[in-house]
Amino acid sequence: MLQRDYRAWVEIDPQALTHNIQVLKHWIGPRVHLLAVVKADAYGHGAVSVSETALASGVSWLGVATIEEGMALRRAGIRCPILLMGATNSPEEVQEVVHWHLQPTLCTPRQALTYAETLRAPLPVHLKIDTGMSRLGTRWEAGLDFIRLVHRLPLLQPQGIYSHLATTRFEDGIREQVERFDTVLAQAQTHGMLPPLVHLANSAGTLLSPRLHHNLVRVGVALYGLSPEPHLAHLPLQPVMSVKARITQVQEVPTGTGVSYGQIFVTVRPSTLATVAIGYADGVPRNLSNRIQVLVHGRPVPQVGAITMDQCVLDVTGMAGVQPGDVATFLGPGGGQTAEAWAEALGTISYEILCGFKHRLPRLVLASVPSH
Ligand SMILES: *Cc1c(COP(=O)(O)O)cnc(C)c1O
Repeated sequence: MLQRDYRAWVEIDPQALTHNIQVLKHWIGPRVHLLAVVKADAYGHGAVSVSETALASGVSWLGVATIEEGMALRRAGIRCPILLMGATNSPEEVQEVVHWHLQPTLCTPRQALTYAETLRAPLPVHLKIDTGMSRLGTRWEAGLDFIRLVHRLPLLQPQGIYSHLATTRFEDGIREQVERFDTVLAQAQTHGMLPPLVHLANSAGTLLSPRLHHNLVRVGVALYGLSPEPHLAHLPLQPVMSVKARITQVQEVPTGTGVSYGQIFVTVRPSTLATVAIGYADGVPRNLSNRIQVLVHGRPVPQVGAITMDQCVLDVTGMAGVQPGDVATFLGPGGGQTAEAWAEALGTISYEILCGFKHRLPRLVLASVPSH
């Protein structure tokens, strides 16, 4: 199907991704590895194509949440080191991890023992220390014992030690997390058991301070051009994803016309309404009904009435020449149509907006540098 036939689609701009990687690499400097977090199909951007672009742009590691995600990258021929950030507990999972050459995260002594009992050959592993997130990892007080255990077990080769930040400000808990992590690192160092890679920072930590970078950073949302928080927007990142849909019908209606289910919008003047072929099943949250602006012919126009499963309505009153087939830009550069603005309106985070476009819409990767 040609692009002109799609009713709605997601556009991915690999040049924006490359730009973001260059900006981030410049920020972290040459001594810090950049691990691109491509879990959840690269936050809805397409894990394989994002990974290929990222590797071509100087990223050295990839990070996934599940074995299936790692498998999909290997099947696509990707050979770089892949960190599996989710936990694995069964011998079957251990075998899969080995088979697909993933580097697992060991969170507990129990997992370390399962790996040691199942492995037939040496395996690089990363040890997870919980310094305050209380999600995965061995708590910092028991960190040294955990590290010693892993060193005693056969075939486990500690390649990394890491922790994960729960907040985005030093004064909101990062200071404690850093102190706890530093204590464990110093203990490991004293016993000659410090793994070569040490990592703590997600996008927020990476943007917040070089003090948090150690020698690898695990960056997700910033790669895709969004800041994790407004106070961390100091780098010139560019959104990688745009979301567009076609206008399918245009009509003139009188004052007092109710629009869509529940008629939560009623026209207050003779109006021109444009119906667009995108709805909440595609990833435009229904709770944004009546609350967003969409770009038509380069101008922001209000979305009106309830967003339905496959369609919604725009108020294009006063705009000349709007016709079926015209494109409406829901997310994209050039008019404040950002995932951050939607997240703000919904009381959620931009991550959830991006992941919402993972399921139904075709994803078009724009042609990158005209090299062939
Ligand atoms: C998802 C995730 C990241 C990336 O987080 P961003 O905020 O998107 O940068 C880093 N580390 C771990 C362990 C994660 O689960």
